Amino acid sequence: MSEPVVLPVVVDAPQHAGLSATLDYRCHLPLPAGSLVQVPLGRRSVPGVVWHRRLGEPAESPQLRSVEAAMPSLPPLGAAWMQLVEFCAGYYQRSVGEVALSVLPPELRKLDDAQIARRLERLKRSAEVPDAAAAPALPELTDEQAAAVEQLAALPAGATQPILLQGVTGSGKTEVYLRSAARALQQGRQVLVLVPEINLTPQLEARFAERFAGRRLVSLHSALTPAQRLRHWLLAHLGLADLVLGTRLAVFASMPRLGLIVVDEEHDPSFKQQEGARYSARDLAVYRGRVESLPVLLGSATPSLESWSHAEQGRYRRLRLTQRIGGGALPVVRMLDMGALPRPAGGAAPSVLAPALQQAVEQRIERGEQSLLLLNRRGYAPVLFCGACGWKSGCPHCSAWRVFHKADRTLRCHHCGFTERVPRACPECGNLDIAPIGRGTERLQEQIAQLLPTARVARIDADSTRAKGSLQAQLTAVHAGEVDVLVGTQMIAKGHDFRRITLVAAVNPDGALFSSDFRAPERLFGLLMQSAGRAGRDASRVGASESPSEMWIQTFHPRHPLFEALKAHDYPAFAAGELKERQNAAMPPFSFQALVRAEARTQEVAQGFLNAASAAARQGMPGRAGFEEAMARITLYGAVPMTVQRVANVERAQMLVESDSRMALQRFLAAWQEILRETRALPLHKGLIRWAIDVDPLTI
Ligand code: ADP
Ligand code: ZN
Ligand code: ZN
Repeated sequence: MSEPVVLPVVVDAPQHAGLSATLDYRCHLPLPAGSLVQVPLGRRSVPGVVWHRRLGEPAESPQLRSVEAAMPSLPPLGAAWMQLVEFCAGYYQRSVGEVALSVLPPELRKLDDAQIARRLERLKRSAEVPDAAAAPALPELTDEQAAAVEQLAALPAGATQPILLQGVTGSGKTEVYLRSAARALQQGRQVLVLVPEINLTPQLEARFAERFAGRRLVSLHSALTPAQRLRHWLLAHLGLADLVLGTRLAVFASMPRLGLIVVDEEHDPSFKQQEGARYSARDLAVYRGRVESLPVLLGSATPSLESWSHAEQGRYRRLRLTQRIGGGALPVVRMLDMGALPRPAGGAAPSVLAPALQQAVEQRIERGEQSLLLLNRRGYAPVLFCGACGWKSGCPHCSAWRVFHKADRTLRCHHCGFTERVPRACPECGNLDIAPIGRGTERLQEQIAQLLPTARVARIDADSTRAKGSLQAQLTAVHAGEVDVLVGTQMIAKGHDFRRITLVAAVNPDGALFSSDFRAPERLFGLLMQSAGRAGRDASRVGASESPSEMWIQTFHPRHPLFEALKAHDYPAFAAGELKERQNAAMPPFSFQALVRAEARTQEVAQGFLNAASAAARQGMPGRAGFEEAMARITLYGAVPMTVQRVANVERAQMLVESDSRMALQRFLAAWQEILRETRALPLHKGLIRWAIDVDPLTI
């Protein structure tokens, strides 16, 4: 037997554990970096990955323990993969081992080497390429598409400048993805396509599968069974899959021949992971492209302002598609000034649809066309109210109202899930007359059915699609023309190719114009542009060519610049205005932010912890090189309760950290972690339940 070697290994232990980033283990096999191993940690046996270098100081340990098991049959993970994981851990302030192990398929841990070896054999044997069906006829590219494809093809090998493809809905962005993918495949490379939500985008998967019938395509997302996920991951890792289509976790897919990354709908917030390592898969894709010297194609009709400003500064190359395929017109946007409507007599509540909008919907129904009504709030009513005593349907465990769901007559908390049957009478005073206030999609559906008694009204939102397959069934009904009016949340705005919808209306979008969340206008604009994009995708087929499709906005602020830009379908104008405001206010992307969140039984404890850690940072960190300089460029705000400050009886507080320099913020956070850990360990803060850092938070 050969001399034992010492291997640095990362294990699945959170950063808070205070372990050094790699631990040393003795091993009789000279396992290469990227090998999976099983090692002892305390009294447990945990999975680990042999790392390519030692990170940090070696842990003090009188005697080295030995690797318990290895998986030499599995080809090791590549250097680029390890670099991506290391970057993610550093940037989002987690431990390398935690990130590494959390992005590998969990099933992998359950297998020993012999099992893996058999698995791989079977995969390789079964991995004959599917029959190359006759190559599908390719559509002739439009001039704009051709220009975009050419520019992409002309990129010198190894060029790493990300490409931002901004194209209005229906402009044929997907065709540009397909052509770029074809090129990469031809060159013997693998292609990774990231999409925001896989069950909303079966159409994209179908288009890729159809175009590349002779290639192996696998998907990677959280809806797969553990066995499927392992199988797909292995196919990618072995290089047997040519295309990987997946949600944010797929950015970590191990792909030895990767040659192109596409991020579709790059602005979508679901690319940001909201727990554990809170990474942005879009940003990691860009980093991965740089490390592996390959092009990253970011596509959207309404790019994130971060990406757009990168393009403005020339850091991203910008390509634009300004025309809809087939010259289809973008919908005409009409403002309905709700302030100018006459008030109904006798103090009656105004109708949910302004008369002109109602008429327009009725006309569509007569013509056999469909309308889509958008309301970004699910449930029947956001709160129940007793007019006699002022009782409201609060959640006993959260600082939030419980939403009234009429279909099953429940009051449901959308934060902690606490659900009860609706009381018959006010629980405080016994008044029988408790009433819903406000309107969610359920109520909108009911009101529309009353308003338009002959119409077939359907609803699509998170509640109506909970059962497996129900979304697909409902979409099929819409496509088949069995629905006249479709009511829904932002869920229906994403990606679906509705062919018969010629009218889209936003019932009540004003809230986002004056939200305390500075990203709310950006999200609203994206949502409205996307929803508008659902209309008139095939106007010719419904014979409505003489009357272009329409988007209606019911608003009290018809002259708001956001709506002006929407009317003109002018994303660049919207972005310019919004970026100017952000710049004046020194908001991202002109500054860099992180949030530290703390949870405890009381606000006092949660805020006390944050403020103590902040005070400790101000006192400096002697011996930490560069800390003082970084600190000088940091603004630490005071601890405040989160917007929904109590969830499931846990009080939540947060502290904003801001800097004009990303580097300074990174340096500061890395050093501050230690302070946060030390502060946490003080008896004074033992009531703290947990804390976590969110870098580049999407909501504040
Ligand atoms: P986007 O992704 O920009 O919203 P799509 O790629 O979905 O747009 O294209 C819209 C429609 O136009 C699709 O049905 C697609 O098949 C079709 N299409 C795309 N490019 C062409 C083309 N060059 N010629 C004909 N049809 C095209
Ligand atoms: Zn009451
Ligand atoms: Zn609750």
